[in-house]
Amino acid sequence: MKSLICYSENDIRVEDIEIPSISDNEVLVRTIFCGLCITDVLKVIDPQVKKPTKLGHEVVGMIEKTGKNIKNIKKGDFVAIYHRIPCQNCIYCAHGKTFMCKHARQTNLDPQGFAEYIRLTEEHVKHNIFIIKDKNNIKNAVFTEPVATCIKAIEKMNLIKDDKVMVIGCGPMGMIFIGLLKNLYKCFVIALSRTDEKLKIAKSFGADVIINSKKEDAKKRISKLTQVGLDGVFLTFTSSETVNLALSTTREGGYVQIFGGPLKEKEIAINFDDLYKKEKAVITSYSSDPEYNKKSFYLLMDSKNNNLDFTPLISNILPIEDFKKGVDLALTQKTFKILFYFNKDFLDFVFSHNYSKTTQT
Ligand SMILES: [Zn+2]
Ligand SMILES: [Zn+2]
Repeated sequence: MKSLICYSENDIRVEDIEIPSISDNEVLVRTIFCGLCITDVLKVIDPQVKKPTKLGHEVVGMIEKTGKNIKNIKKGDFVAIYHRIPCQNCIYCAHGKTFMCKHARQTNLDPQGFAEYIRLTEEHVKHNIFIIKDKNNIKNAVFTEPVATCIKAIEKMNLIKDDKVMVIGCGPMGMIFIGLLKNLYKCFVIALSRTDEKLKIAKSFGADVIINSKKEDAKKRISKLTQVGLDGVFLTFTSSETVNLALSTTREGGYVQIFGGPLKEKEIAINFDDLYKKEKAVITSYSSDPEYNKKSFYLLMDSKNNNLDFTPLISNILPIEDFKKGVDLALTQKTFKILFYFNKDFLDFVFSHNYSKTTQT
C-alpha cells in the first residue's frame, strides 16, 4: 500500500509498504481523504523536527476489515477518525489539558494519516471512530479535527450570545472560527485580513463586518463598532502586530485567544500593567481531544440545519504523489483546505455510489 515518508523538506516519497494486520479488537480503514493541516506543513519545513515523522490526522475512510470481536462497526462503513487518546488518569487529563497527556501524545494512527490503509487500535475503536451515516457528508467530515480545535478554543473564552468578537486572519482556520462564532455561538463577528478576496469569503461564512487592515484603520473602525471594545479576539497567527491590535481593541475583562502560534517572533512585548488593571486575559489553545471531536463530528453531520458546511473551503484535492506540491501551495496562503487521496478508482467508487444515490432520490 502507499504511505508517505518525509525524509526531509525536499525528499518526500510515497513508498510501498505492507498493509498493517489487525487483531480481533481492531479495525482496518481504507483512507478516502486525509486533509493537510498546518501542523503537517510545519513538521515538513521545520528542520528541527526529526525526520521521518508521522504525518496526517484529518482522515475520512471506509472500513476495510474488522476484527472478530468488533460488533458495532462493519466493512463498508464510512468513518471519520481521530488519532490521540488521553489516559484520563494523569494530572493533565484531570485538568482538562488532555493534549499534554503523555499517553495522548504517544497514541497515533498506524502507520499515520497519510497512508492508504490505517490500523485502528482497540482504544481508537472505543473512543475515536465516528460513523458517517449519510455519504453526502464525507467531505464535511474531513473537518472534524480542525473544527474541534476551534470549538475548544472558543469554549475557553466564556463568550455569550451577541458578544462582539474579531477573528484575525482569514485562512481556513479563520473561516472555521467565523462560521462557528456566527452560527453556533451567535456572536457578532468581525473578520480582519489584508486580502479583499479572503474577506469576501469570510462574509459568506457569516462575518457581519469585514476589515481590510491594509486599507483602513482597524482600531478606529472597531472602536466605532463596539464603543467599549471587543469581548474576544482570535489570533489565527501571532505576531507583535496582531497581538497589539488584539490587546488594544479588547474591552476590559475581555479575552485574547492565541490559536495560531507565532511563526517568526517567538517573544513579543506585552504591557502587563494594562493586562492587570483591565483584567484582560491572554489565553492559548492547542489541538483538541476525543470529546471535542465528537461534538464537532455531530455538528458537521447536521450541517443542513446548523449551517456548518465547511466544504466550500476545500480548494484542492490532490493525489498523494503531489504531496510536496500541496505543501508549497499551502505555504502560498492562497489555498484553503487541501485534501490528498491515494487511489483514484477508490475515490470514483465511493463518490459514484454517492452521486447515483442522490440522483435517484
Ligand atoms: Zn489538523
Ligand atoms: Zn492523561
